[in-house]
Amino acid sequence: MTTLQDRLDEMTVAGELYEVVDPAEKKIRCFACGHRCLIRDGGRGVCKVRYNEGGVLRVPHGYVGALQVDPIEKKPFNHITPSATVISFGMLGCDLHCSYCQNWEISQHGRDKQAGRDPYVTSAAELVKIGKSRGATAIASTYNEPLITSEWAVTIFKEAHRQGMKALYISNGNGTPEVIRYLRPHLDGYKIDLKAMNDKTYRQLGGVLQNVLDTIRLVKESGLWLEIVTLIVPGLNDSPDELWDAARFIRSVSPDIPWHVTAFHPDYRMTDPPSTTEKMLVNAAEIGAEAGLHYVYAGNAPGRVGDWEHTRCPSCQRIVVRRFGFRVIENQLSATAGHCPGCQTLIHGVW
Ligand code: SF4
Repeated sequence: MTTLQDRLDEMTVAGELYEVVDPAEKKIRCFACGHRCLIRDGGRGVCKVRYNEGGVLRVPHGYVGALQVDPIEKKPFNHITPSATVISFGMLGCDLHCSYCQNWEISQHGRDKQAGRDPYVTSAAELVKIGKSRGATAIASTYNEPLITSEWAVTIFKEAHRQGMKALYISNGNGTPEVIRYLRPHLDGYKIDLKAMNDKTYRQLGGVLQNVLDTIRLVKESGLWLEIVTLIVPGLNDSPDELWDAARFIRSVSPDIPWHVTAFHPDYRMTDPPSTTEKMLVNAAEIGAEAGLHYVYAGNAPGRVGDWEHTRCPSCQRIVVRRFGFRVIENQLSATAGHCPGCQTLIHGVW
């Protein structure tokens, strides 16, 4: 019987993000994500979708596991072309195994027998065409971890750029210098989840804190537009000390990186912690502002977090972009090339 994995393996090409470590034994090392899997002939990486066939790394190509049109604020990006429509695609598999994953049905393919979804066979040209027909001005690799299918993403993004669309990554940030260099010419914006400031927590999720911190610095230094999200999970990462650590770290990279603190809802295998309250979100946002971050947002609670959904000018505090959830109510920056209409301060972003 043909399994889903068999079908996915048929839709692969030779990868570019790997090196041969032992030609005689056909051992290779993948560097598409921070795991840097050493894979023997016939073996698979931690993500389950990249595998070694005769000393060649085979990587996914020519399909998607999810396809949807979203407002850019849902990604969330608050500082790239407000209210733009984004065609968003997801793939199958992930390099982490977060127990609260909201997209576990695609991300945990290969790890959880309940997960997996029929792929939609497609091409870069078709995805861009679908996006254009729906009014999208950007395309995003999202829902599962995009780093593990970076070669396919670059194929799509090259076509998107040819057609005048922006290209975005919505990622857990478990990157490597090699993959960031590889992606840089083909990307316009990168969102990273900073899930905790505690390495023990990251190990539970299948990651390493330092990889994420290093990737945040690398992405910022590369000149890509970067926004950071921390999902506030009660009891996991919501202590004031940890939130201060996160805010101070981001501040040390740049005070102009937007920080979104968003609300957790019980999902997948993490059903014990209660949902994040509005008060918790506001407390976290206040820590961000007190630490010196210029753009802090509280998400997933439309109309219930005071002014923390809006963009303020860091100099005169005027509200320059007003939002309700993912909807932009007013954008004063569209006519000013990103400058505050009150005091002319530059509001960082891609307007
Ligand atoms: S993408 Fe990451 S998890 Fe997958 S094979 Fe490469 S290094 Fe391993």
